[in-house]
Amino acid sequence: MADLITGGGFRFDTRYTELPSVFYRLGEPEPAPRPELTIVNVSLARELGLRLEELSPDAQAALFSGRSLAEGSKPFSQAYAGHQFGGFTVLGDGRAHVLGEHLTPDGRRVDIQLKGSGRTPFSRGGDGKATLGPMLREYIISEAMVGLGVPTTRSLAVVRTGERVMREEPLPGAVLTRVASSHLRVGTFQLAAALGEPEPLRALLTYAIERHDPDLADAACPALALWDAVAKRQAALIASWMRIGFVHGVMNTDNMTISGETIDYGPCAFIDRYAASRVFSSIDRGGRYAFGNQPRIAQWNLARLAEALLPLIDADEGRAVEKAQERLERFQGWMGEAWTDMMRDKLGLPGRQEDDLALATSLLELMEEASADYTDTFRALSGATPLPSALEGTSGWAAWRERWDARCGRAPGDVPPPEARDRMRRANPAVIPRNHLVEEALEAAVSSNDLGPLDRLLDALRSPYEERPELAPLQAPPPDSFASYRTFCGT
Ligand code: AMP
Ligand code: MG
Repeated sequence: MADLITGGGFRFDTRYTELPSVFYRLGEPEPAPRPELTIVNVSLARELGLRLEELSPDAQAALFSGRSLAEGSKPFSQAYAGHQFGGFTVLGDGRAHVLGEHLTPDGRRVDIQLKGSGRTPFSRGGDGKATLGPMLREYIISEAMVGLGVPTTRSLAVVRTGERVMREEPLPGAVLTRVASSHLRVGTFQLAAALGEPEPLRALLTYAIERHDPDLADAACPALALWDAVAKRQAALIASWMRIGFVHGVMNTDNMTISGETIDYGPCAFIDRYAASRVFSSIDRGGRYAFGNQPRIAQWNLARLAEALLPLIDADEGRAVEKAQERLERFQGWMGEAWTDMMRDKLGLPGRQEDDLALATSLLELMEEASADYTDTFRALSGATPLPSALEGTSGWAAWRERWDARCGRAPGDVPPPEARDRMRRANPAVIPRNHLVEEALEAAVSSNDLGPLDRLLDALRSPYEERPELAPLQAPPPDSFASYRTFCGT
């Protein structure tokens, strides 16, 4: 049994473990031998109503590695299933422990979960551990998403465990404390459906609605109402990923949340030179999760959610399928609208016109031909910086520019007026966690225990839409050596 720590402001009130026992296994984290704090997210702690100042650094390290438990915490690992690269598997947290559901001062209920905290009944062959680089990577990118205005799980702390973890070489072990609106996934519903009994599925639906969409409890068909809510959140989420050039990289159904938060920062990356087919993950050979394929994959995943919910959609299977099908078509509309509206913001287009989609698509085609940097191009259109030379020289550019000016009702070549410019600058970040910057920050942290570059990057990413001269070094596109940047599924 782990030591108990009192104080710190934790208010656990866990309901998930009232679900049928197929959805979890109780079990404590493996105690880390010599836990040591690497980074703590003080502002997030404050938002959550935690009073970490009541706890010594050693107590915090013990707590955020799972060696000690806060009062009221009864850890468990969640069971779920999922389609991974299209193939169905029954899974579960193989290296994570939910410490409990914590109530925040502003009335929210969040999961506090440790990732990398040791083996669980779902570990299969894995060691249940995580290493420092990937855990810090999740910390950086998830917190960058907050500044960029993208729904995401949060990172509260990273602790070194004092243990070496064997990968291709021995690496420093670490535990990440993740905070999420919940860890319910499309895959949680798939697990419930795979059991083939109505009760667990119904219980999960009730829990999900209570947690994320309490207004839907009295809907005519709660299952369809929840599906709609999830689909709308996912359409908004995918559009916001594409707004900032984010490639999730592993959009398996177990990595798609019911809450609409981005989860699982394994092989994710940010595009630089634009190409719809851009893929970074070393294992995504078919381009299933490529940048431009994300809307389609979201729809595929939502089809799996609809399938799982079928028994609760209509007692008649044929009718249930019909209703689900009709919903999926609606998603296509929602996703298309979310994407086009997002592009209207990026381009500062007033109102809505039929051929806005074509205008946006033509620009992307030009950018792809010219290998223009995604972030730089949009920032330049807002008048903040000069146009990337790769684009300026192309034959199509002048003609597109004329179309854009005409659509915005401006004289050819004029810069956007102040309101349009402000709107564009709120949609087009000046700073993103560019892959080479993230790698540099991780290298310094892991090899030299130097958190300076990581802190500077996180600091810049707190207000990524502001043009600040001192940020210029963080804005430059990557050196050519990064052209073939690859990411790996984070272990
Ligand atoms: P992820 O890609 O992190 O979402 O992991 C996919 C599945 O593999 C999840 O069920 C994880 O819990 C499990 N998993 C990943 N890494 C490990 C590990 N080192 N030990 C045990 N299970 C793992
Ligand atoms: Mg995952």
